[in-house]
Amino acid sequence: MLKYLFGGDFIAYNDKKQIFSYSRIYFYNYLLALLPLLSLLFCKTAADEVITSVNMAYYSIFSLSFTNIIFFLYYYSTAYKTLRLLSPVVLLLQICTFLLSTAVWGYYTSSQSFPTATTILALLQTNVSESYEYLQTNFTGQTLLLFLFLVLVYLVFSLLLHLRLKSCRINNMPPVAIAVFVLLNLLTVYKSSMTPDNFFTNTLRETRNALAQYDNFSAQKNARQKILGSLKSLPKNAAGVYVLVIGESQNKGHMSAYGYHRPTTPWLQSIKNQHGFLLFDNAYSCHSHTVPVLTYALTAKNQYNTLPLEQAASIIEIAQAADFHTVWISNQVKYGAWDTPVSVIADQSQTQYWLNGHLGETTQTTHFDLSLVDVLKKLPVFDKALIVVHLMGNHGSYEERYPHAFNRWTGKSHIDKYDNSILYNDFVMKQLFSAVKDLPNFQGMIYFSDHADDVDAGLGHDASRFTFDMARIPLYMYFSDNYIQKYPHTMAILKKHTSAYFTNDLIFDTLINIMQIPFPVLEETNSLADKNYKNTSTNLKTLYGKKSLSEDPFAD
Ligand SMILES: [Zn+2]
Repeated sequence: MLKYLFGGDFIAYNDKKQIFSYSRIYFYNYLLALLPLLSLLFCKTAADEVITSVNMAYYSIFSLSFTNIIFFLYYYSTAYKTLRLLSPVVLLLQICTFLLSTAVWGYYTSSQSFPTATTILALLQTNVSESYEYLQTNFTGQTLLLFLFLVLVYLVFSLLLHLRLKSCRINNMPPVAIAVFVLLNLLTVYKSSMTPDNFFTNTLRETRNALAQYDNFSAQKNARQKILGSLKSLPKNAAGVYVLVIGESQNKGHMSAYGYHRPTTPWLQSIKNQHGFLLFDNAYSCHSHTVPVLTYALTAKNQYNTLPLEQAASIIEIAQAADFHTVWISNQVKYGAWDTPVSVIADQSQTQYWLNGHLGETTQTTHFDLSLVDVLKKLPVFDKALIVVHLMGNHGSYEERYPHAFNRWTGKSHIDKYDNSILYNDFVMKQLFSAVKDLPNFQGMIYFSDHADDVDAGLGHDASRFTFDMARIPLYMYFSDNYIQKYPHTMAILKKHTSAYFTNDLIFDTLINIMQIPFPVLEETNSLADKNYKNTSTNLKTLYGKKSLSEDPFAD
């Protein structure tokens, strides 16, 4: 048994040097793969996460079997000439294991939390400059040194292992025994990675599932359009131009219009009680990351229905089916690492302006949000249109979001910088509002933030560290006199609902109602513009159904 366990003729060999060599190879191998893997259990405990004994058992079995496979493959690939081809594969497995666990530890040291599938998706969706900003804010020199040190240790051990293996010779372990051992380990790796109790493989599986869903959403574009074709036969609804403005990382608790002590939103405060203007008090985001939020906010999919995402028509698809011209103006990057439903939705718009990309004639790569207003002002006249404006808003790094003139709170704290960015956002919205108000055929403007940031605790909006501060968002609307005259009923219902609880995945239903699109399968109880809207903090949820709004200490 010892002989098999230690992967060599532990007993049969008399040459002391050989025995030493074999056991040390074994030791190095385990140090390179098993220790980093098992260390994640400590990482999870350090992050204050609950690990049950079942979790621990599954993960340990998985780690041990995985290391065994690496070890045996490595050992025999150097022992048998014919198996030499396996060497690079094994080395790759080792490096991946090491890098993955180092990345998890790196994430932990910067955020004191354990990464989730959403974290991985969010990291992959950010672009290079955003990742750089993240590193700048979260990584200290110490973390970097620790990382470099770990890499160095790893390289030294790898080198030692390679040198040692050169001196290895074939032993007498029967091939059947090797095969059985490897097969057994393969089986345990498979079994222990299929259970949700293995947090490591489960996170990877959740990430993969989300990506598959995104792919499906993109692939089913034509199928959705076919269904929507039937909308053309419905009675044509009235003309008009609607503007949907999507804010970014804006916490309503830092807006004076919602009672914040600093005068961060003078414009919103001055206008919130004016005729045609509606400020909603109890809006929440449905998640804390941009892509999951907008995937639900802009499609028929929401936290409460069972509709498969790929069948969920988007607001752009529906508006187009109802003969609205669709325009997308964005200060966010067009493409992340792959097509998300958000980029698919945006890309279906008939007219698009991307200020934050390398498309078009512009030589500037960074614009403040005010540039979006210039684009709006130059738009051609539309009789019937839906214009979506996607701001960079208050996304970190906060000090990069506003020009120097808005450096009103000059302290070094991130709260001062965030409040400056809110002040600038208020200025941008003031300009944007006066521009859209003057658009020919203008009917209404709806503003909401994708999610908020927990600024006071300095947590950003990382879902693995979720607090309700990441979900309390502003929502406001303005309707023209023309609209109020045409649809006094809709206006009255919306007014009645200004204190109602709401999650922004229901923007879709609400907007379709506001635009008076006769969409046949609309869930009327989910539209703020429908008299049957009855949602409360008890039945509404956030973080994709994981948290009830009633858990928010601020909710009543
Ligand atoms: Zn966002």
